[in-house]
Order: sequence, then structure tokens, then C-alpha cells
Amino acid sequence: MKDMMPSFNLVQPIDVKSAINLLTEAGAGGWAIAGGQDSFDWFKDRIKRPHTVVDLSGIDSIKGIRETDDGGIEIGALTTLTDVEQNPIIKEKYGLLSTASGRVASPQIRNKGTLGGNVSQDARCWYYRSGLDCYRAGGNTCYADTPEGMNREHCLFGASRCVAVTPSDTAVALTTLEANMVIVGPNGERIVPASEYFIGPAIDIERMTVLEPGDVLIAIRIPAKWSGAKFYFEKVADRATWDFPLVNIASAMKVSEGIIEDISITCGAVECVPKRLTVVQDIVRGSAANEETASLAAGAASRGASALNYNHFKIPLMENLVKRAIRG
Ligand SMILES: Cc1cc2nc3c(=O)[nH]c(=O)nc-3n(C[C@H](O)[C@H](O)[C@H](O)COP(=O)(O)OP(=O)(O)OC[C@H]3O[C@@H](n4cnc5c(N)ncnc54)[C@H](O)[C@@H]3O)c2cc1C
Ligand code: SF4
Repeated sequence: MKDMMPSFNLVQPIDVKSAINLLTEAGAGGWAIAGGQDSFDWFKDRIKRPHTVVDLSGIDSIKGIRETDDGGIEIGALTTLTDVEQNPIIKEKYGLLSTASGRVASPQIRNKGTLGGNVSQDARCWYYRSGLDCYRAGGNTCYADTPEGMNREHCLFGASRCVAVTPSDTAVALTTLEANMVIVGPNGERIVPASEYFIGPAIDIERMTVLEPGDVLIAIRIPAKWSGAKFYFEKVADRATWDFPLVNIASAMKVSEGIIEDISITCGAVECVPKRLTVVQDIVRGSAANEETASLAAGAASRGASALNYNHFKIPLMENLVKRAIRG
């Protein structure tokens, strides 16, 4: 880590249209920042060197939380994680997201870091973040997927040359809540379900999301569907203080008289994208929320997992988190 960032042109638009124009003009040399908590590491380490940084933090129209006509909520992408965690409506109706936001990093990072930045952050693979020329950085090898590679944090599913995982704690909660991401770019607005916002290396090895150059994520909309459901979020990390997940889990269940009527469940840090556990959903829907169902679900969750040399522990960890989510 070095202290001095290489210089860049800093532009501070106050509306989305200007931000898109500035990013489009800057092309490959442009970089959007929100809270800067992921970006500044790249700049200080002199690994990513944009010539133009477009600071989105002055765009007030994409901050804040409001209820929508359909009974859901809309969260401006520039809303800080602290505001998301502490918002009374989110706490009351979508406690899953409040809990997940409160488990990101440290209070200082949550005060600056935004929800939009959290779901758009880059991979945390040690080799990549050190500036090595791996596949994700445009090279032709993966340093983590070698016999001696340090891969205990890496994936169990969906490897395709790169074995990095999604590091975001809020991504799993938003995927479970079936949120929609509102993106505005040079060609107008599009709405992408959270389950399609995150992309794996087989689709594009150099990006973690569908955001294209010039795109700005303006809001995250959460439908009413899971409002007030029975939620479970748990994150296991090496340290209880600021640390990325080794595995995290987010579930929403509708339980009536002990029977699971409906469920949405997602596991993080086991694949490059939040992993929707659709097989688990199919198995437990209509069953009793008890130990037996939880055990069946746990076994199904890890089916197809392919461990690397040093991350076998993630399989029982994932299974146990699924178990705990189902039995609550
Ligand atoms: C020590 C440390 C510990 C951390 N621990 C965790 C953790 O436990 N869990 C976790 O989930 N994260 C963690 N993080 C990652 C990160 O700090 C947070 O995810 C934070 O929320 C990032 O938000 P930001 O607004 O600061 O992002 P920025 O750095 O501003 O942006 C991140 C990326 O998203 C893009 N971006 C941001 N906003 C938009 C937008 N509106 N439209 C288009 N693109 C956008 C930027 O171009 C950039 O590529 C940690 C970071 C550090 C430094
Ligand atoms: S896991 Fe991905 S990011 Fe890490 S070294 Fe391999 S290709 Fe690079």
C-alpha cells in the first residue's frame, strides 16, 4: 500500500445526465466513485490509474430512501450503508437488508460507503488486488487456482478461469429480496433484477456486474413481496470486526403454522455471483421448518460444489448456514 495516489482529473457533476456524459467522454480512462471505499484502495496501490474520476457524491437526486406506490421501497444508490442500516422502514419491513448492511466492514466505512458501491465493488482476490497480471486483469493465468495458490477465500461453484467470489454482504440480501437495479446509461434507463445484475467470469471475466462504461446505477427497488417475512442473515468471517465474508447467507421465509409456505435463499462468497439456492427453495417449500427439513436443505445446497486446495472448509460452513437459516 502506498500513500500517494497518482493524479487524475476530478469532476463533480450534480446530476445524473452530466455524470453519464462525463463517463462516456472519458471512456476506458474514466472511473465513477461514490463513497470511494473500494476505489481508493485501487488508486493508492497505483494498480488502477484512471485519468478522469467522476465523483457521484454531489448528485442529491440518487440519495435517500422512499416508499413506492406498490408498497415496496426505493433506495438511491448513493445512500450510505449506515443510512440503509438505520432506516426505520427498512428495519421494520426488510430487516434482512438492515442486518446485512450493518455487517459490512466498519462503522467508518459504512458512514462513507454506499449501497450502490457495495453491490458494484470489485473482486477481493489477493493476487488481483496486488496488481498481478491474472485473467481478470487481462493476463493469461490464474494465480489462485494453482496447487500452491492461496485460495481459501475462493469459490466452490461457477469457476471459469477465475475462481474469485462476490465479496458483497448486501448483494445476498438484495438477491433474496428480489430487488431490481435501476441503471441509466448513454442509451437510457434499464431495470435489471438483482439476480442478473451480478455476472460471472464465463460472461465477462473483467467485470463483476452488468454495468457498462458510462452507466450509473441510480437506485435499488425492493418489491413488497418479502416485506415482514421471517429473515435470517449470517456472515462468517475470519474476524468479527471489519472483514469480508468467508461465507454469508440471507433468507426470507413465509411460515404458517410451522410450514414453510415460501422461501427465497441466497449464499454469498461461494461463487462469483450471489448463489440463489433454488434447489433448496424447491425442496423445503411446503415442508415443516424443522431440523429434518434443514438437514435435507443443507445437503442439497452444497451439491455440485467443487473445492479448491484450501477451501474445503467452505462446504460444511455453507451447509451449516443453510441449516441455521431454515430452522431459524
Ligand atoms: C477495510 C475494508 C473492509 C471492507 N469490508 C467489507 C465487508 O465486510 N463487506 C462488504 O460487502 N464490503 C466490504 N468492503 C468493501 C467496500 O468498502 C464497501 O463495499 C463499500 O460499500 C463500497 O462502497 P463505496 O460507495 O465506497 O464504493 P466506491 O469505491 O465509490 O465504488 C465501488 C465501485 O462501484 C462503482 N460504483 C459505485 N457507485 C456506483 C454507481 N452509483 N453507479 C455505477 N458505478 C458505481 C465504482 O465505479 C467502483 O468501481 C470493505 C472495504 C475495506 C476497505
Ligand atoms: S481468482 Fe480471478 S482474480 Fe484471482 S488470480 Fe485468479 S483470475 Fe485473478
